[in-house]
Amino acid sequence: MIHHKSCPVCYSYDLRLRLLCADHFKSRETFPVFTCAICGFSFTQDHPGDDVIGSYYESDEYISHTDTSRGLVNKIYKTVRSMMLRKKRNMVEKMTGLETGNILDIGSGTGHFLSIMRNSRWSVKGIEINEKARAASSEKFGLEIIPPEAKSTLEKASFDCITLWHVLEHFSDLHNYIAEIHRLLKPGGICIIAVPNIDSYDARHFGQYWAAFDVPRHLWHFNPDTFGFLFESRGFKVTDIKTLPLDVFYISILSERYKGNKMAFLTGIVKGSYFAFLTLFNKRKCSSLIYIMKKWGGCL
Ligand SMILES: [Zn+2]
Repeated sequence: MIHHKSCPVCYSYDLRLRLLCADHFKSRETFPVFTCAICGFSFTQDHPGDDVIGSYYESDEYISHTDTSRGLVNKIYKTVRSMMLRKKRNMVEKMTGLETGNILDIGSGTGHFLSIMRNSRWSVKGIEINEKARAASSEKFGLEIIPPEAKSTLEKASFDCITLWHVLEHFSDLHNYIAEIHRLLKPGGICIIAVPNIDSYDARHFGQYWAAFDVPRHLWHFNPDTFGFLFESRGFKVTDIKTLPLDVFYISILSERYKGNKMAFLTGIVKGSYFAFLTLFNKRKCSSLIYIMKKWGGCL
């Protein structure tokens, strides 16, 4: 178990227990989520180390990696994913101002996003820890994806855009990844990172049942302030924050399921609609946020 004596972002020792959260997905074990009293950053405390965390992902239901289509929630997830892929491609092209270029997707999963980017004439590279997902990317799309330990072989300042779609919260070596992203981006290059938002309406509503806590797989629980503080002190400038408005439906349905609600789908859709409506007036309370950042001067 990894115990953080100080805040992983500002290194303060003033840490407070925020809530206890169960691993509803796999182990049923309980993990504490702590918040730093100084900078407000929240993180999973006493989580498994890299040597054993793999067993907490081992399930056919972990749809981020296994691409199964069983179950209504998974089918909805895949439909939403198709819509989101197009939105992500459009976002990359708009934010970089480029119609083609070099893009690196970190945590590329089964390669769907890189495939759609390559179809739009981008030169693509991916990093993925899961061997089966790398093999699936190769089989289905003919993509060459490298494992994380090979990322240091990538040439510095070689990418116009680096994307991380819902993966940063999984990385134990957070600071190392941020430094690598900075190294690999061209000067003025764009980094696009999507993560769950612990300040969202749904996070506040569901509390320990909020599906995006996803302990112990999610180690870091960002909000707009802590995310900005972390990256802007490491050579990036947050230039915009976008929403992923459909995530809230998936998260709400899963959260209702974790609460034991037999009508989880229906209740999740109703609550998701309510949260989605509220976030029309305050996007910083959206279930997931996409941070658009530019590589800035400054040193690491
Ligand atoms: Zn802190």
